[in-house]
Amino acid sequence: MPSSFTEYPLSEEILSALEQLQYRTPTPVQVKVIPEILKGKDVLAKSQTGSGKTASFGIPLCELVEWDENRPQALVLAPTRELAIQVKEDIFHIGRYKRINVPVLFGRSPFYKQVQALKQKTHIVVGTPGRVLDHMERKTLDTSAIRYLVIDEADEMLNMGFREDIETILEYIPEPHQTILFSATMPKPILEITKKYQKDAVTIKVVKKELTVPSIDQFYYDVKRKEKIDVLSRLLDYYDPKLSLVFCNTKRKVDELTNELQGRGYFAEGLHGDMKQSQRDRVMNNFRKGKTDILVATDVAARGIDVDDVEAVFNYDIPQDDEYYVHRIGRTGRAGRTGRAFTF
Ligand code: AMP
Repeated sequence: MPSSFTEYPLSEEILSALEQLQYRTPTPVQVKVIPEILKGKDVLAKSQTGSGKTASFGIPLCELVEWDENRPQALVLAPTRELAIQVKEDIFHIGRYKRINVPVLFGRSPFYKQVQALKQKTHIVVGTPGRVLDHMERKTLDTSAIRYLVIDEADEMLNMGFREDIETILEYIPEPHQTILFSATMPKPILEITKKYQKDAVTIKVVKKELTVPSIDQFYYDVKRKEKIDVLSRLLDYYDPKLSLVFCNTKRKVDELTNELQGRGYFAEGLHGDMKQSQRDRVMNNFRKGKTDILVATDVAARGIDVDDVEAVFNYDIPQDDEYYVHRIGRTGRAGRTGRAFTF
């Protein structure tokens, strides 16, 4: 098992970028995925956020694309705008010394600006399915040189109703190409897409044990409903985490709790799907920059949030299933730091 990225056939540009990012040891999903993509195989990978999956395709894609080619060579589909931006940033950092250009395409954002970006030299395009398809249909995204397609969080995209869009996008990609699909779960529709569009895909599973990050201390408190706010305040004061994420199961709860925390003098903001995109961007920016240190969110809104300084995750409401639990607490203890997770 490679214990260092230098054991892979990667160019100096990529290795120095990884060095700068302080990625030294490949994560389990990277150990399994990177060589297969480099070999030219289709991949079907069961893995979740926090496992290092973005770099597991970002590294080989940055290695494989040819800088001189003026047309996009790789397309990465992601379910939400937040995740698309995150993926774009990760790939940009990995490809920085190779000067890889990575435009990102998502809805509810000016079309013409994206068209401008696509007119420049582009190597890897990242986007959400609806907007990517718009660009394909209007011929503002040149698909003629695409050789790599990544479908990230495929189950999430199907849940959001993107199946038809994804299948139409797949029809646009010329042969031959490599298809790499990531999904946290493997329901029937995913297997159907795999069967229809992938060729001898290598199946990769990262077992659960490797998913829960060992550097997270997990606490459980038996609390009466009306005492939750007091317990939360006490824990916040005692541990004084740099950044905290507080999860609620409903949008209403997010609003209520945010108000209560603000009333108690905390720098807290809420994030959920009913808010306008511009509002959500503002909240996320404030949190990323540490202007607000407590983010109260629903599971869906928090998907794709990747902020390294989150020191505590609070499950103000118990998550509805254990996959959510893993997702939630995986927001802390990132990039080798220790984190704490509190469940009420
Ligand atoms: P992801 O599963 O793609 O959301 O990645 C989770 C986090 O791990 C991100 O903050 C990455 O920057 C970080 N990461 C990815 N690969 C490595 C690695 N090999 N070593 C250290 N950190 C990594």
